[in-house]
Amino acid sequence: TKERNKNDYQVFKKSLTEGFKERLHLETELHKALKNKDFELYFQPQIDIKQDEIIGLEALCRWNHIDKGIIPPNQFIPLAEQTGLIVELGDWVIREACRQNKMWQDMGFPKVKVSVNLSAKQFLQRDLVSNIAEILANTGLESEYLELEITESMAMTNEKYIIETLKGFQTLGVNVALDDFGTGYSSLKYLSQFPLSKLKIDRLFIQNRTEQNIAIVKTIIHLSHSLNLKVIAEGVENEEDLMFLNNENCDEVQGFYFSKPLPVSEVNGFFNKKLS
Ligand code: C2E
Ligand code: CA
Ligand code: CA
Ligand code: CA
Repeated sequence: TKERNKNDYQVFKKSLTEGFKERLHLETELHKALKNKDFELYFQPQIDIKQDEIIGLEALCRWNHIDKGIIPPNQFIPLAEQTGLIVELGDWVIREACRQNKMWQDMGFPKVKVSVNLSAKQFLQRDLVSNIAEILANTGLESEYLELEITESMAMTNEKYIIETLKGFQTLGVNVALDDFGTGYSSLKYLSQFPLSKLKIDRLFIQNRTEQNIAIVKTIIHLSHSLNLKVIAEGVENEEDLMFLNNENCDEVQGFYFSKPLPVSEVNGFFNKKLS
């Protein structure tokens, strides 16, 4: 068994080194990609159920890799977060989302919000609020057409500082939505203290409608409305999902039923298409 353990250790050591090399390689590539602007934003429409019209677009980042093709965010955002590269990447995402949204408005499309995901590291940057003010000024996008999505886990880290930052956004006129709501350590205390404008129900609850999850969705919708918040559900994939949320009085929906995240060239078509 001694020999066996030694072998196991060798295998372990090897995979560890390889994992490390791969990580290092990916990190170097991320650096290069940032320099070369190899990232692209896709946009997923958000629909107001009652008006039956598009009211927002969530910006979702993709990495266009020369050999590997399009790499989805869950394969590079965590690494970007760990290495701190997310700050630079995130800055690019906000700027690009605002620039693009302003361009659509200038082209005469209906004015909608663009929603941008913020990472924890980004959110803790001291100059985030002034950075965003600068981006809005530079792109010419009015603040009401930018929305930021943060997650509960980010809200937990440094309460006082978070509230300060959120108030900064409020002063700027930029709305903040709490993303993936229900999956983290939701605390009602935060909901009443944080200046938020929207709760976003995680798609987990929409796609797996157990009795319990249905109860959770209903509760989140009620809670949002009694706190004067809008509520949006993600992961709406079919008509049943939509009917369920419509019956429960959800305000907005997002999901494959209406549209996948689209490259810029295809958003134009979506604007022109009638929804129903
Ligand atoms: P998220 O913020 O929860 O974004 C929603 C994800 O759900 C997107 O995946 C979207 O494509 C997917 N989705 C939308 N509708 C449906 C549906 O009906 N069914 C299913 N099964 N999925 C749906 P995506 O684009 O792969 O993004 C994954 C995550 O990566 C995002 O989750 C977000 O946390 C992160 N992310 C993406 N772009 C950025 C970014 O620019 N910055 C940061 N910090 N994170 C980002
Ligand atoms: Ca999001
Ligand atoms: Ca989400
Ligand atoms: Ca999610």
